[in-house]
Amino acid sequence: MKVSLQDCQAIDVHAHPYVANPEPYTQEEFVKKLSLAVIPNKIPANYRLVNNQPYPGSNMWVQILIQRLAKYLSCKPSLEAVVEHRNERAKDFQKYTKNLFQDANLTGVVADFGYPTPMLKKQEYAELCGARIWEIYRIEPVMIRLAKESENFGEFIDQYRLDLKLALKREGVVGLKSIIAYRSGLDIMPMDNQGASMQYEEFKVDDRSKVKMLRDYCLHIAMEECTTANKVMHIHTGIGDGEVVLPKASPSFLLDMLRDKKYQDTKVHLVHGGYPWVEEAAFIVSILPNVYMDISLQNPFSGHGVKRILSQVYEFAPFDKVMYGSDAFTMPEMNWLGVHLFKECFEDVLSSWVKSEYMDLEMARAIGEMALYRNFENVYQEHL
Ligand SMILES: [Zn+2]
Repeated sequence: MKVSLQDCQAIDVHAHPYVANPEPYTQEEFVKKLSLAVIPNKIPANYRLVNNQPYPGSNMWVQILIQRLAKYLSCKPSLEAVVEHRNERAKDFQKYTKNLFQDANLTGVVADFGYPTPMLKKQEYAELCGARIWEIYRIEPVMIRLAKESENFGEFIDQYRLDLKLALKREGVVGLKSIIAYRSGLDIMPMDNQGASMQYEEFKVDDRSKVKMLRDYCLHIAMEECTTANKVMHIHTGIGDGEVVLPKASPSFLLDMLRDKKYQDTKVHLVHGGYPWVEEAAFIVSILPNVYMDISLQNPFSGHGVKRILSQVYEFAPFDKVMYGSDAFTMPEMNWLGVHLFKECFEDVLSSWVKSEYMDLEMARAIGEMALYRNFENVYQEHL
């Protein structure tokens, strides 16, 4: 007996908005746009291609996308044919995007408008994709903006706290987000007002500088404001684009802060489930009642790895702690394959549990629905 999730709706708890590409994609651009790399591969002039070789620099996720998209577009499963057909259909980008969302039964997205910059408009993205959009509010752009406007550290901190407070009151804003793993790492130290103020001038000069004490301090303020407002703190964990401070990106570095009594009621969402440290994330959400994880980025970008990961995550993670996500960021095909690949892989995993007599078909199906949207509704207290 096979578990089917095909008719189940999905809410994506972490993705980014985008607009139509101004010109049709070339094959090279299409592959580049699908890549997480900041500096995509350059093909050297003397590079020798063999017959049937995948496009240079492409990987399993790109390969799976070509294969699945070819079926959807009714064309040959080659990069050339897929890009050609995709470009044709994407001439009406809104229709193309809406159709992909509908085909995947993707009904809602928690969108991080912190990327791309300059910021896109929520209403426009909602109209483009036809799904309900919730917003999380990134703290780093706020820090940068207010450092330019503030006379001194004291004023900066007051304005920063006020800004977060007001953002969390806005309709449709479900939480804050930090990308501190890209700047100074996840080993967050206790609040140090003096240390943070000492680094303020350096941050004013270079907003990309490490200034760890200042960044840790600002993250604590965001945690406090989420606690007061009963909203969710998103923290980027694990890999990302090429800039991430990888040796300090494992969610295990967050443990000291997360275990602090002060934050025992704070809802924290570990974005990307700490991949490749997914088992650490699964353990953390199993011991801390208000900490949750999603499987965005690893799904769909680890390609065939999604099946293995889903099996591993549930070795420790409680069923009500894992949420569906994609980290889609430049084109609707990412949102689309995110849902389809997740369902395909999770159906296999769930079916194997039924076959092993760990549960019946109905329970397996319920676990699928929990990951796809019900856990989101419970954690965020938001319903479609
Ligand atoms: Zn993201």
